[in-house]
Amino acid sequence: MQSAFAQTTAIVGNQIIDGLNKDTLKSSVILIKNDTIVGIGNRSIIPKGAKVIDLGNATLLPGLIDSHAHPLISGDDYQNNHVQQSSAYKALKAYKGMERLLNAGWTTMRVAGDADVYYGNQDIKRLIDEGVLTGPRIYGAAHYLSVTGGGGDINYFSPEQQPIADGLVVDGPEEIRKAIRTEAKYGADWVKVLVTGAFMSVGDSPKAVQFSEEEFQAVMEEANRQGMPVMAHAHAADGIKMAVRMGARSIEHGTYMDDEAISLMRKHGTYLVPTIYVGDYYNDPRNQLREQAIADDYSKNYRHIFIDLVGRAHKAGVKVVSGVDLGGYDYDPTVYVRELATLVEAGMTPMQAIKATTSVPAEMLNKSNDIGAIEVGRKADIIAVENDPLQDISELEKIIFVMSDGKIIKNDVAK
Ligand SMILES: [Zn+2]
Repeated sequence: MQSAFAQTTAIVGNQIIDGLNKDTLKSSVILIKNDTIVGIGNRSIIPKGAKVIDLGNATLLPGLIDSHAHPLISGDDYQNNHVQQSSAYKALKAYKGMERLLNAGWTTMRVAGDADVYYGNQDIKRLIDEGVLTGPRIYGAAHYLSVTGGGGDINYFSPEQQPIADGLVVDGPEEIRKAIRTEAKYGADWVKVLVTGAFMSVGDSPKAVQFSEEEFQAVMEEANRQGMPVMAHAHAADGIKMAVRMGARSIEHGTYMDDEAISLMRKHGTYLVPTIYVGDYYNDPRNQLREQAIADDYSKNYRHIFIDLVGRAHKAGVKVVSGVDLGGYDYDPTVYVRELATLVEAGMTPMQAIKATTSVPAEMLNKSNDIGAIEVGRKADIIAVENDPLQDISELEKIIFVMSDGKIIKNDVAK
């Protein structure tokens, strides 16, 4: 509850990574009133009567943002799971996964569509907004749009079987407009489109461009009319370039980008969400996909090229954002942090990888006034780790403190 007389809370650590500066701040104290950051400084700024949370030697950071989330997908065999699980089952399980992610420091997620017939992700968002549930801030698309036979269709059933696919299957401008209007009607604030085929879906190729120019034009027109930015899943270079030229706000994956695609992204200010770690996850023999051969071929023959391309895109000035692209419940939150490690592998500094998970996605979401940094006036989404994540990015796997919207979610230091 907002109150002018609310008690001030002071979080005390050793140093602050604010998500904006290139160096850690010398300050060690963050003041919070209600849900907002009201001061940053040293101990002398702590007012009399403030509630002090002393986290010792901790490094304080902004809450983490996962910009490519699929909370309602709970297992690797997601297309079969989709037809075997009700929307309610998926949503309840997704919420348990979100609770764990919030506890691990992920205070915001952008949903890249979910394998769900209904709007489970929007129902969770509504319950969080209503204060019934506590969870991460949720933005994004309820579903992913796909063409018939594309990455969001189910392509391995006989023609007699007509399950409702995991994606929203649309062909032609008319169906696209109706799908986007329906997404908007039920609360989605982004449009997600599978411009090209996907790695994980059965029976289509990530190297194929699936939406025509006429269709993607319809996507952009309707999304613009609704005020919804477009996130374009695109692996093949031609699909990336079409989406960038026509105004997509972000490219998801970008696996087969080339120099022209990189320079177009830079020129248009398009965000790149390369989702590198998910490929490594499926390189592990314990985590196998129905289309494992395509994933194996990528891991063996192409991953090193992709890492190099992401590094070059970053160097060229493309705004790289971290997105995890794993499902929700069945994945341990610590593996989400490994996306940051792959960005470091691609040539970003740990500080740049942290920005790619805080202030840069906040800018992509048009939420820079609210989240993504430790700055006076922004919401108090604050996490802490015991050691310095700039020395070792995997320190972010060990979150000791989480505050979301000014509320303490987790405090391992409390006596
Ligand atoms: Zn995805």
